Amino acid sequence: MAYTDILHRIRAAEAAHGRPAGSVQLVAVSKLQPDARVEAVLDSGHRLFGENYVQEAQGKWPALRDRFGPVTVHLIGPLQTNKAKAALHLFDAIHTLDRPSLANRLARLAQEAGHCPDLFVQVNTGAEPQKAGILPNEADTFIAAARALDLPVVGAMCIPPEGADPVPHFAHLARIAERNGLGGLSMGMSGDFEDAIAQGATHVRVGSAIFGARA
Ligand SMILES: *Cc1c(COP(=O)(O)O)cnc(C)c1O
Repeated sequence: MAYTDILHRIRAAEAAHGRPAGSVQLVAVSKLQPDARVEAVLDSGHRLFGENYVQEAQGKWPALRDRFGPVTVHLIGPLQTNKAKAALHLFDAIHTLDRPSLANRLARLAQEAGHCPDLFVQVNTGAEPQKAGILPNEADTFIAAARALDLPVVGAMCIPPEGADPVPHFAHLARIAERNGLGGLSMGMSGDFEDAIAQGATHVRVGSAIFGARA
């Protein structure tokens, strides 16, 4: 099935680019997919999924976790401040820490809850006005500020501009992560995850290539 094909391509890309076997995690992006397709991938043994919408994930994962046991779910879509509390309890990681107000809210909620999901700072590598994320030249300052709030910042994330060669964006994100001592690199989707692995991705976010087109 498509899922096993993608896994094989990830392992092959690791080998081709001198990456240790298993160093790249597949975040299977299940947003807007029919339950049957998600259950088929769970039946194959996969236990790491990505969701874009808090409400959709809330409606889906508690029941699937009851049936399939522990499943790691990462939020990869934008997080509204008023949904931060729900997200903190539902997700194991949030890839879209993209602004100071969200950092402040998460820090306060994490203190109350006594725990916080792992956080990736979303960087707007193309400096696109309509896109979320910290501008590249503000990333170092933002990461330092988030760390000063005791937030568990583990990595950086980007979505390269539509239609552009993604490789320079992946390379840029890798440099930002490296100079800030961040080990996690969330980059690469269905069309470009092998390029992302070549540039150091630790988490590739693959949806349609596994599950088929979304509704
Ligand atoms: C939907 C989505 C993906 C998966 O996209 P595909 O092209 O279906 O692989 C990855 N990352 C983000 C941020 C997304 O919103």
